[in-house]
Amino acid sequence: MPLHPITLVGAGPGDPELLTLKAVRAIAQATVLLVDDLVNDAVLAHAQPSARIVHVGKRGGCRSTPQAFIHRLMVQEARAGERVVRLKGGDPFIFGRGGEEIAHLQAEGLTVAVVNGITAGLAAVTTLGVPLTHRDHAHGVVFITGHAQDPAQTPDWAQLAHTAHQCRLTLVIYMGVSGLAHIHAGLRQGLPGTTPVAVVQHATLPEQRELICTLDELPQALAREGLRSPAVIVIGDVFRGLLALRDRAMDTHAGQA
Ligand code: SAH
Repeated sequence: MPLHPITLVGAGPGDPELLTLKAVRAIAQATVLLVDDLVNDAVLAHAQPSARIVHVGKRGGCRSTPQAFIHRLMVQEARAGERVVRLKGGDPFIFGRGGEEIAHLQAEGLTVAVVNGITAGLAAVTTLGVPLTHRDHAHGVVFITGHAQDPAQTPDWAQLAHTAHQCRLTLVIYMGVSGLAHIHAGLRQGLPGTTPVAVVQHATLPEQRELICTLDELPQALAREGLRSPAVIVIGDVFRGLLALRDRAMDTHAGQA
């Protein structure tokens, strides 16, 4: 009997209504689901009651399930004839190790299908009512990780900031909160301190929190508000309007005090 393909499915940023129809169908057909940490449990409501659900993130017990174990489990279950779905937060191919998983599964002779999901950085900015590429302010957007796998290969943040400034690019930084001091120091070398920044934690979920500030204010504002992972840090002139609104609200507040 031919084996079923393994499907890497993007579960979106959190709000279960942001799942695609393809994702819902794949989840509903799965007999085994391997679920990452950042996936909202509500999406599992689409799974069959008899489906086996394996949490492979930190919630799974250990600090984080080793990637080799996840690979082995997927191969083993697919070879046993199961319909395996690998559920990942956001989009499986945006900082989701989807590439590594596909390469491994294909090397084992298995077929793989991929279902896109809405990536957190895009959804987070949309919740603020701001287009990532508003044509008055940005010619493009860069999705970048603040957490390089190999520390020797961390991006040159100063160079990136210069380019973003010159080419009018919005920077969307994933996994950037813990390394913010280093990232901020680099970015300040190429972008004005007045550049607007938005930080969004738990985007699209009821517990979403956000912060609008300038690049200069960012480290202190983040510490004051206590925003933590999972959060995206988004930098660029697309937030000019929101920053102006904040400043007006602060002026009014100061006037009343
Ligand atoms: N594949 C995922 C990203 C995985 S990397 C995607 O496409 O969205 C994990 C990082 O994504 C987190 O550290 C955080 O920076 C970001 N992230 C994921 N979900 C988020 C959410 N709901 N709100 C804000 N950031 C989120």
